Amino acid sequence: MAIKVKVPYLTSYSCPNVCVMCGNAPGPGMNWSINKSIATGSKGTTMLLFSFPLCQECDTAIEVKMSTEFLKILFRFLAIAVLFLGAILDKKYFGELGMIFYISIALSILCLILGNVLPNEINQKGFTSEQRERRKRVKQSAEISSIKTPNFLNKNGSIIFIFENQNFATGFSLMNSGEILS
Ligand SMILES: [Zn+2]
Repeated sequence: MAIKVKVPYLTSYSCPNVCVMCGNAPGPGMNWSINKSIATGSKGTTMLLFSFPLCQECDTAIEVKMSTEFLKILFRFLAIAVLFLGAILDKKYFGELGMIFYISIALSILCLILGNVLPNEINQKGFTSEQRERRKRVKQSAEISSIKTPNFLNKNGSIIFIFENQNFATGFSLMNSGEILS
């Protein structure tokens, strides 16, 4: 069950030395970051970024996501590039859009199809359902529920975090003069 922790407003916090998702020992330099932009008077917005420790297993599950996302974007980019190239070549050599352009449309569609199929294939093959489940849970492990910047009525301000891992939430609250709301 998700735990709400209210802590004084700060731009960084001490974290318990455990994985924010599963409570395992954290891997070196591995963390899960969440961010939220807040309004800062008339000056626009500021992005707050908070990082929480992740263990090796959770970190691996997340990396997967990143690389397949990257593949999807790469293929979309290729699809557009092929289309442009076809149009440019056709204009240059034939003065109008014709055969080369039609071929490039076909190649472009092929890129889009590959871009949808390949990342999913990689996902299914290389990674267990446990890893896919873990990835989903890491994404839900920490959330920002609300931010109140310090003002003259409330000089500490506050941030309310929501954690899925109870031990992490308790430790985080203790280390940052917080209180558990639920
Ligand atoms: Zn973990």
